[in-house]
Amino acid sequence: MIERTLVLVKPDGVQRGLVGEVISRIERCGLKIIGLKMVYADEKTAGEHYADDEAWMKSTGEKAIANALKEGRPVKETALEIGKRVRRALIAFISMSPTVAIAVEGHRAVPKIRSLIGDTNPQNAAPGTIRGDFTIDSYYLSDNSGRPIQNIVHASGTKDEGLREINVWFNENELHPYKRIEEDLIYRRANEV
Ligand code: ADP
Repeated sequence: MIERTLVLVKPDGVQRGLVGEVISRIERCGLKIIGLKMVYADEKTAGEHYADDEAWMKSTGEKAIANALKEGRPVKETALEIGKRVRRALIAFISMSPTVAIAVEGHRAVPKIRSLIGDTNPQNAAPGTIRGDFTIDSYYLSDNSGRPIQNIVHASGTKDEGLREINVWFNENELHPYKRIEEDLIYRRANEV
């Protein structure tokens, strides 16, 4: 169950000087950084990352609709329309200034990183998570100003997504497997990995 996952410190996180904060949270929990770089992404890379994937756009739109209904706000678009609009805004946002890409490896790395970053909507992100600790942005504020929610980081949602997204940002020779000291303590037997 050693997984690989991609973390991006998005332009808002880089511009706010939160790169070190994100890296230190990844490192201190015991996950291993195997790739790290700053990228000024072009629209092609941004479009490959936020792929033209109907299922993802629908689920992004559904989360936004659920949030609006919970807050008693009217919904005028379908989930897919919201997803398409958000994808366009994300591509523009992520290619407007540098992003830091981090390839991470470790035992159940995908869900572990998702729990470190917290909920998509920073208003719902628990204290102690990156999104909970460093921003008060929300669906409401971002939709009102027609921009993506500025929630500092992206992290892959599934194992397959992790492998695909690492491929978008890194060449194979930019990934550097090595051993962390804790591995001798926690990965004693192969079947515990
Ligand atoms: P996550 O980043 O938690 O995996 P999603 O995949 O649903 O969340 O969305 C990707 C990113 O798109 C979010 O992190 C956020 O920056 C932005 N986003 C999602 N939904 C909206 C929305 N309705 N309005 C503005 N930005 C959004």
